[in-house]
Amino acid sequence: MKLFDVYPINHIEPVKALGTTIWDKEGQEYLDLYGGHAVISIGHSHPYYVQKVSDQLSKLAFYSNSVEIPLQQELAEKLGKTAGLEDFRLFLVNSGAEANENALKLASFHNGRKKVIAFKKAFHGRTSAAVAVTDNPSIRAALNFAEHVEFLPFNDVEAVKAAVNEETCAVIVEGIQGVGGIQVATDEFLKTIREACDAHGAVMIHDSVQCGYGRSGKFFSFQYSGVQPDIVSMAKGMGNGFPIGGILISPKFESKHGMLGTTFGGNHLACAAGIAVLDVINEEKLVENASNVGSFLLDELKKMSNIKEVRGRGLMIGIELEQAVGPIRKALLEQDHIFTGVAGAHIIRLLPSLALKKADAERFLESFSKYL
Ligand code: PMP
Repeated sequence: MKLFDVYPINHIEPVKALGTTIWDKEGQEYLDLYGGHAVISIGHSHPYYVQKVSDQLSKLAFYSNSVEIPLQQELAEKLGKTAGLEDFRLFLVNSGAEANENALKLASFHNGRKKVIAFKKAFHGRTSAAVAVTDNPSIRAALNFAEHVEFLPFNDVEAVKAAVNEETCAVIVEGIQGVGGIQVATDEFLKTIREACDAHGAVMIHDSVQCGYGRSGKFFSFQYSGVQPDIVSMAKGMGNGFPIGGILISPKFESKHGMLGTTFGGNHLACAAGIAVLDVINEEKLVENASNVGSFLLDELKKMSNIKEVRGRGLMIGIELEQAVGPIRKALLEQDHIFTGVAGAHIIRLLPSLALKKADAERFLESFSKYL
């Protein structure tokens, strides 16, 4: 049997990884500045994480959500404390799309409405409701109808004021658009969404799947603005590679048995991975590290010439060039053994582990500057 061919592949085959280093099958070492698309938060194969996940695997990997799973509560408490959102409640799922799917569904359960406002270049996942609010018609099938979705220009305050009304179920927004090219939401934009949602009974959903979990230099990027969303979706960095996602739900939502559900979400092994990730984030002060090393990288990149624009926060960085970035990424990979990501033809996207060291950032800057 062959694979159903849907992924454009980078020509690198990692077989082993540790921290921010990956090795291919020839034993060649690479600096990983892509972090498996923002998934590797605490670093590959972190020894504490490996131990905790292995211990859980040998005890009990899975039962079902029909029994008591205290690990879920432990994860919720640690997450509430780490993020400073102790009033919120947690519903656990398996991926970013599933988190957004449930966020939208919960919003519609809450106010009974179905009109959703999303933004140009937004990416929220590939399941039905998530892909309907994703601004890419080419990944939306006929079944994923989006008639109820309106796409507004990102960071356009006036457009939000004009569009949100009594029919609006939810506004869904990424704090930093990732797939859309590393566009940072302004504080004013998020505040306007918050006010418009409050004025009209709409739900503010903040998609933190890519920009959350410390990546922006704060635990959640909306914490720069002081705005508190009603629902926060998360995944990627939450499990450091183990599939786990979730939504944080403000106290104003009522829960009813059966309204949301999933077989695998919140399983023992996923919770053990999630708890270990938070332990390491706290112990090693990785949010501060993301802020410090990220600011260093952003500042240094902004000093370089021949760059159209540098955008981002923390360790979520986009470098936009006039020319296509393919040849530079290839040279970085083949000559300097540094693996980077992209967002479209002209933007290099950096999403390394939150534990990236300043020396590794310097290594990248030195290599990158040769090709400008
Ligand atoms: N939201 C955002 C902001 C994302 O970047 C992604 C993944 N790129 C998703 C949702 C979907 O996550 P998943 O692939 O885990 O379903």
